[in-house]
Amino acid sequence: QTIGENLARTVAAFPDRDALVDVPTGRRWTYAQLHAETEVLARALLARGVAKGDRVGLWAVNCAEWVLVQYATARIGAIMVNINPAYRAHELEFVLRQAGIGLLIASTGHKSSDYRALVAQVRDNCPELRETVFLGDPGWAELTAAAPAVSPEQLAAREAELSCDDPINIQYTSGTTGFPKGATLSHHNILNNGYWVGETIGYTEQDRVCVPVPFYHCFGMVMGNLGATSHGACIVIPAPSFEPAATLRAVAQERCTSLYGVPTMFIAELNLPDFATYDLSSLRTGIMAGSPCPVEVMKRVVTEMHMSEVSICYGMTETSPVSCQTRRDDDLERRTATVGRVLPHIEVKVVDPATGVTLPRGEAGELCTRGYSVMLGYWEEPEKTAEAVDAGRWMHTGDLAVMREDGCLQITGRIKDMIIRGGENIYPREIEEFLYGHPKIADVQVVGVPHEKYGEEVLACVILRDPAESLTLAEIQDFCRERLAHYKVPARLRTLESFPMTVSGKVRKIELRERYGS
Ligand code: ATP
Ligand code: MG
Repeated sequence: QTIGENLARTVAAFPDRDALVDVPTGRRWTYAQLHAETEVLARALLARGVAKGDRVGLWAVNCAEWVLVQYATARIGAIMVNINPAYRAHELEFVLRQAGIGLLIASTGHKSSDYRALVAQVRDNCPELRETVFLGDPGWAELTAAAPAVSPEQLAAREAELSCDDPINIQYTSGTTGFPKGATLSHHNILNNGYWVGETIGYTEQDRVCVPVPFYHCFGMVMGNLGATSHGACIVIPAPSFEPAATLRAVAQERCTSLYGVPTMFIAELNLPDFATYDLSSLRTGIMAGSPCPVEVMKRVVTEMHMSEVSICYGMTETSPVSCQTRRDDDLERRTATVGRVLPHIEVKVVDPATGVTLPRGEAGELCTRGYSVMLGYWEEPEKTAEAVDAGRWMHTGDLAVMREDGCLQITGRIKDMIIRGGENIYPREIEEFLYGHPKIADVQVVGVPHEKYGEEVLACVILRDPAESLTLAEIQDFCRERLAHYKVPARLRTLESFPMTVSGKVRKIELRERYGS
């Protein structure tokens, strides 16, 4: 099935159920309305000459139009390119050129950036960019005005030409470990993944899914939008970008049954001073993904947020994204120590990164995944694709993992983050989990920094619970010494107010290394 065919099936089954609610503007669409409106937009894009395989950029914070553009481009076989809302001129120019974007659909701005000014700045350097349409009034009317020039039959003819293996989406990776790479994905890749994630959660047309994570990232677009619409559930947009209070307000107001977030978002919601005043009793489930979740946070999410079935997902943009997910009845231990079991129709193996030999259960190595979910490739970067996806179609994730006896997978860190000090392998996560237990520490990141004698040494970057307090290296070392091997004890300490983050909510360790490494 193509994404358009799948949407049509949902529409036929649940025409009058809510499909989409944009809480900030109060607008809402039933499935029949969503289908009709994406049809108008799809015809307008055809009238503008958008051909199958043409790249259409979408540069916007979360809004209803984002979802409409997603389905309209899929229905005409255009390749939608998700552009990170936080990008500035330099990065925008990179994506516009790298993906060869002809039509750019953009919102008017995000936080302090004025998208009109940024587009004006880079336009002359992007020869393939023919046109930019800014959303809002009258942008949307302008965008859809040409629809009558193309008949519904002409749209149906285009839809009949599409194959589920066509590329329809380029998603750039988060850029946690370096410069983002554009994963090229097909209908088959992302539709199936959204479907299986929703199936594992048990979505039905009764569910209402609150999506505060960015749509531009696979978490929002695939696990959110496609996960919901492939099961007839409703997508609820709480705010243009993440705001903890707006998120909980939307859950209460729309009686959401499911809530998404990376662990830092749940922490921000739980820490709201008026947390107890929100009625979250409608919640049953949700997804936490992107980085490991501290045990204490998971406990509070399950009890205080009523998300007793909350699901942990592990994946990466290149694999559509999810490979492993916890199940509804998994216990707290599985949901904090592991990322659950592999999804149907996906294979995993854990290999020795040096030799490529598959390791037995219980041993740490590089995780490789294979199946329908593996991307078509990095857009116009065949060498990088060949480094990541081998001849047997195995995706080398760059993540370190252990397959437990019970079939649940543990993610122990990233190969790039592993610290090698004097020949000893050090996993930052182990030291981080340990330092979380220090009474003065609110958050901590451990990275390797260059050292003349040992190659690398351990640097702990900490955020203090009470910024007025101080913490010395000697205190940290005393705290660690009794319970950690000497080579893991941090040799250096930095106290920070915040960590450098990606828009998808992950800490950019590479930046910590660059800033504090010398
Ligand atoms: P880049 O590839 O540009 O450096 P990135 O890898 O962060 O950035 P994404 O594709 O958004 O880009 O994220 C995938 C990565 O996120 C995985 O490879 C893994 O390291 C991490 N990750 C995802 N889910 C989990 C999880 N549940 N637990 C731990 N780590 C996770
Ligand atoms: Mg990655």
